[in-house]
Amino acid sequence: MDCVFCDIAKGEIPSTKVYETDDIVAFKDIDPQAPFHVVIIPKQHIPSPAHITKENYDIAGKMILAASEIAKMEKLDKGYRIVANCGEDGGQTVGHIHFHMLAQRNLSWPPG
Ligand code: 5GP
Ligand code: ZN
Repeated sequence: MDCVFCDIAKGEIPSTKVYETDDIVAFKDIDPQAPFHVVIIPKQHIPSPAHITKENYDIAGKMILAASEIAKMEKLDKGYRIVANCGEDGGQTVGHIHFHMLAQRNLSWPPG
């Protein structure tokens, strides 16, 4: 199966990793939308938030824990935004579940 984020998780596509555990990887987004922009993914291939089930939902907690730990490591004291795009209308372009973590600028609300 062809999946760019699985390849990044395995190190087969280079990325700037900022965090890694047995289950999770976070790396700098190639097209940053804020001065700080990382993508948090599970190493396990799950296509989108719509594919979270009673069997695999623990991974979502691990993704949030990653964000919390990255924020402490990177001293994002003024806050940050976590975004999960899901499906076509949600603006998802890579079919492997991920959180965007954006910081170091004032982010508008509501999003466009
Ligand atoms: P989505 O549009 O699915 O919510 O987010 C996918 C994100 O992955 C985009 O922000 C895009 O810039 C990023 N991205 C896509 N391909 C690569 C890549 O090969 N390396 C890195 N570091 N980021 C990527
Ligand atoms: Zn994948």
